[in-house]
Formats: sequence, structure tokens, C-alpha cells
Amino acid sequence: MKKIVVLGSSGSIGTQTLDTVYNMRDNVRVEGLAVDSNIEILKLQIKKFKPSMVSVNDYVKSRDLKKWCASNNIKVNVYSGPSGAEKLAETPGVDTVLIAIVGTAGLKSTLAAVKSRKNIAIANKESLVMAGSYIMKLASENDVSVLPIDSEHSAVFQCCANEKKSQIKKIILTASGGPFYRYNKKFSQITLEQALKHPTWKMGKKITIDSATLMNKGLEAIEASVLFGVPIEKIEIIMHPQSVLHSMVEYIDGSIIAQLSNPDMRLSIQYALTYPERLPSRIRPLNLYDVGKLEFFKPDFNRFPCLRLSYYAAKRGFTMPSVMNAANEVAVGAFLDKEIKFTNIAEIVEKTMNAHTVSKSVSLNSFIEADSWARFYAKKLIDKGM
Ligand code: MG
Repeated sequence: MKKIVVLGSSGSIGTQTLDTVYNMRDNVRVEGLAVDSNIEILKLQIKKFKPSMVSVNDYVKSRDLKKWCASNNIKVNVYSGPSGAEKLAETPGVDTVLIAIVGTAGLKSTLAAVKSRKNIAIANKESLVMAGSYIMKLASENDVSVLPIDSEHSAVFQCCANEKKSQIKKIILTASGGPFYRYNKKFSQITLEQALKHPTWKMGKKITIDSATLMNKGLEAIEASVLFGVPIEKIEIIMHPQSVLHSMVEYIDGSIIAQLSNPDMRLSIQYALTYPERLPSRIRPLNLYDVGKLEFFKPDFNRFPCLRLSYYAAKRGFTMPSVMNAANEVAVGAFLDKEIKFTNIAEIVEKTMNAHTVSKSVSLNSFIEADSWARFYAKKLIDKGM
């Protein structure tokens, strides 16, 4: 029986994880659940999975939950505040910590899990972009696996599980293109409602906007470079509107290995939790006759400047990816609050990156400092109307 902790259990990845775990309940046990503030979903999850501990980031909500547990005679340890998720991540006896907390907030619990020698299943690409080299070094020192949840990285992971990293010629990440790949009107007029409609994946708001600007794919390119130890120059992005081929790895002999399935996050979640084993799943099998054709196109770096910025950030390295990621989080937040236009997102990110002096240090502090500086700078740009 594998014991797991799910951080961010009320969100999109978190609920899909529990859905997956329920189907494997003879093999996987949920030991802990952490949410930011959504205790209504957490209550249902407590009843269904009977974890021994939970954590609620919001203090007031955690008090409400404690009362609810007491009046329903439910025995579960309730932690609160930002350190609660870290406590769960450190619990002895837990095999895998699944990190589905959005944004940079997931970093601390990621580090706590690795330091206490838990394998991490990571859906939080921001912490890998921000401090990837640090996390991977720490993971190898503590001899733990970093298992990707993102469908593309899960695909790459599966395509190179039995191969030598040194024999990889390139990693080819596929991208659906999001809602605007074939959009022929002015990008500056794109509304929030249009940007929130993704053609293939149902996801949280932040990642849906990132998919519309293609920043998501840029972050994924950096994430792949970090996870697989391959320089950014060897990572290629290819548009694939059918979204059934989730990524490929090309080897030095010219062979390309790909992973295909219907687009369903529950498959990569399940693989991360059962790795190195596989279990039957409830994913709808892929019918290639229904798909009919697989198409591939070159990405347009001019119409989607976030792609260009991501490659630039990865090439500059050190604190630059952290700055790009933080500025993007702030800009996407402002777009979600209807404070800025769609095209302003990339502009804010670029201006913030241009104003940054790269610190050539790989300490955790330098990444955190760069992150706070970029947030402050991007916010200032927004406040003064850019
Ligand atoms: Mg993805």
C-alpha cells in the first residue's frame, strides 16, 4: 500500500488526483490533504478518504473545520497556516507527496518533502521554473524521485524511462495552441471570457490564461530542461491541435519515441503515483480511427512573445526564469481582475525581465529575492498604467 499526501486537494489537479486514487484504493492510501481555504470540498474528501491529517492555509477556515470535525466525531489532525502543508509533506511513513498548489506558493512544501526524503509528484511547474536546479540537486542528494504530473513531461518521462539521457538528441513538446492559435483578429481585443475557454483541457484559471498566451508552453520548456537535465536548445515546441500525442523524445540514432492517449490528466497522475508499476485505469482508450489524422505545425514566436521570452529566460539562466515566472503570475492576476489587456501580459513580463540584473547565484535565497523583486516591479508597472 502506497501512502500519499495531496497538497492543493480542492483544485483541478487535486480533485482529479483523488478521483484517480479512489479507483486505486486497494493500492494507494491518502494520508494527508491540504487546501488553501475551500473547506467545503475538503469535508467531502475527509469523509471519503479518511486521511489522518489535513491542513487549511486560512486560519479562520481551519477553525471552522476543527469545529465541524468535533461535532461530527471525526478524528483527524487539523493544521493551519502556510506551515501546515509543510508539516504534511514531512510526515514519516509517507511515500509520495503530490504537489498541486498553484504558483510559487508550492515551493516551500516541495522542499520540505524532498528534505524529508519523500518522492514528489509535481504538478507545480512554477517552483521548477523558479528554483529547478536547486530542487533537482536536493532531490538527487536525498535520493528521491521527481515525478512529473504535467501531461507533456509525463510523456517525456515515459519515453525515456529506459534510455540514457546522454543519448537524447532533442525533446519535442507538443502544444494544442490554446484558444488563439488560429485567431485572426487583433490580440489586444481578446477578452477575459474568450481567454478562459480552452479547446481541449479543463484546468484552473491561471494555467488556462498561460495556455492562451502560450506562456504555459514556455514554462513547460524550462520545466523539461530542468527535469530531464537537457539544455533548452535541445527542447523543441511543436503545435499539435489534436492533443493526443503528448510529447516525444528523439534519440541520436534518429529514433523518435512518443506517448499517446486521450487528453486526460488522470493518466499522468496515476502513472506518477504507481511508477514504476502500471495499473488498469478508467481513461477512455484512444481510438486512432476516430482521431483520423495527427497534425503538426511550427509555433509562431512573433504572435506569441511569451515563447520567445521563455527561451531567453532559460538561456540567461540563474535568476531570470524566476523573474519571468513571478512577473507572469502578477500580470495574469491583473488580467483576471480585468486591470490590463491580454497583450499587456507579455509586455509586463518583458519589461520586468529587461529591468532585471541577473544574480549569478544558485542559492534558494537568490531565487526568492528575484521572485519578490519581480512581483514588486511588475505590480508597479501595472499601477502606473505600464
Ligand atoms: Mg501541460
